[in-house]
Amino acid sequence: MAAPSTAAIADARAGLRRARRVVVKLGSAVLCGDGYAPREEAFALHAAAIAAAIADGREVVLVSSGAVGLGRGEAGQPPNDPAPRFGKQALAAIGQPLLMDRWRAAFSAHGLKVAQLLLTHGDLGDRGRFLHARRVTAELLAAGALPIVNENDTIAIEELRFGDNDALAAQVAAAIGADVLVLLTEVDGLYDADPRHEPTARQITALTADDPDALAYTASGGRSDLGTGGMRSKVLAAGKAAAVGIPTVVAHGTRPGVLARVLAGEAEGTLFLPGRSRLSARRKWLATSVRTRGTLHLDAGAARALLLQGRSLLPVGVRRVEGRFGVGDAVRIVGPDGTLLGRGLCRYASEDAAAVAGLRSAAIAERLGWLPARELVHRDDFLPARGASAEAAEEPDA
Ligand code: GLU
Repeated sequence: MAAPSTAAIADARAGLRRARRVVVKLGSAVLCGDGYAPREEAFALHAAAIAAAIADGREVVLVSSGAVGLGRGEAGQPPNDPAPRFGKQALAAIGQPLLMDRWRAAFSAHGLKVAQLLLTHGDLGDRGRFLHARRVTAELLAAGALPIVNENDTIAIEELRFGDNDALAAQVAAAIGADVLVLLTEVDGLYDADPRHEPTARQITALTADDPDALAYTASGGRSDLGTGGMRSKVLAAGKAAAVGIPTVVAHGTRPGVLARVLAGEAEGTLFLPGRSRLSARRKWLATSVRTRGTLHLDAGAARALLLQGRSLLPVGVRRVEGRFGVGDAVRIVGPDGTLLGRGLCRYASEDAAAVAGLRSAAIAERLGWLPARELVHRDDFLPARGASAEAAEEPDA
């Protein structure tokens, strides 16, 4: 592993001290105690820490898990219940108001109002809904109300299975242009081995988010029976945040003073440094919030023009179109050998795109009866994959 330089770490920590917009995510294991009852002291502790950060002039958005866990407690239905009456989505519906009730009480002790935002990946993947969510969040922050976000588990079937609040927190951080993402969990951060079984396990204090070793270490991360995430989803979330230039800290959520220490730039948990600099707002959204619906396979010329010369993708450079998507949907864009070049918003629906693949503009108008757009993917709507390089644009050996 190529560890980041001491200077880079010091720089990132100085950035944490200056951070104005902060997204804090709390895992279920931090908030639910024995019998899935709310851990009142945890609510009080974190509300006090967040209130202190706000008093310091920071803006905080809280992403809070715990709906399913608290729902279990309320329903008296542990995970091993032989005759469960409620599914996870129903448990989330039962637990979410309890969660907000606890937060409301905890923050009102500091004179702060709270606001609930329930989101799905689908909401943030749709540009229109994404912009609404972002505007309302900004409005709440400006008016001094604390936005508390959770996944809308009750309606997000797929999300509850595949999604997790770590990914949601990264998307929220990208959406509001956060300066740091803080994931508070029940472990101290990333270790190079399982600290529960390996006495010599070493904590990784800082690494770059795209370090290939990061995911390998997650095999050692503890996974609670409460949250859906585990350390792997934290590393993936840190990668998403890094893609838009946001650092992430993963730290122990039950340790008093943890947030204050993170925001003071002290060595706490694991710091993931972003490699990438800031992107435009639209590209940020493309990097983190969008789910792709199809794939465009390019010829070598188009791949080079897109990746190396920063040109838009024209239909003439496309060999094959996969998947079903509508105008404006996000697609994967791959080179001649199938290597991912990046993702982009396609200006043609999949059927039209397939019909005009390989054609020049004049032939397109003739084939479709009109020219929907000159570009299939405009260069402003293209985001290169991390590490996509010149070789990816090369023709594979025959
Ligand atoms: N949204 C879920 C809940 O509130 C938690 C998902 C997660 O743990 O990542 O219970």
